[in-house]
Amino acid sequence: MSCLFCKIIAKEIPVKTVYEDETVFALEDINPQAPVHILIIPRKHISTVLDIGNDDHALIGHMFQVANKIATDKKVAERGFRLVMNCNRESGQTVFHIHLHLLAGRAMHWPPG
Ligand code: AMP
Ligand code: ZN
Repeated sequence: MSCLFCKIIAKEIPVKTVYEDETVFALEDINPQAPVHILIIPRKHISTVLDIGNDDHALIGHMFQVANKIATDKKVAERGFRLVMNCNRESGQTVFHIHLHLLAGRAMHWPPG
């Protein structure tokens, strides 16, 4: 198993866990780009957004609901937050196991860099 996020989910690498359930895992990003920067990761290994299949719809929807719960718990939901999922090289994807970035706690720029 060479995937960093599969190793993190298997608890082979210590992280600051924010949330976990049967299908989803959330942790603090090691290199935060905002005061709140959390990664919401499916336990199932899916390499990129392009690999999301017909069986994954409920899982992807659940990732967004977990992001909503974390934003609410962190008290940033009303102020606002950004959810980002990068896909492939030009987007900046570096870990090829899909993950939703939850960014909050500062005003975000648009368009993103
Ligand atoms: P992306 O560039 O969209 O693939 O995002 C990968 C994210 O994983 C980056 O924001 C990294 O800072 C984060 N990351 C990499 N290694 C770790 C780690 N060991 N623990 C927590 N976050 C990590
Ligand atoms: Zn993986």
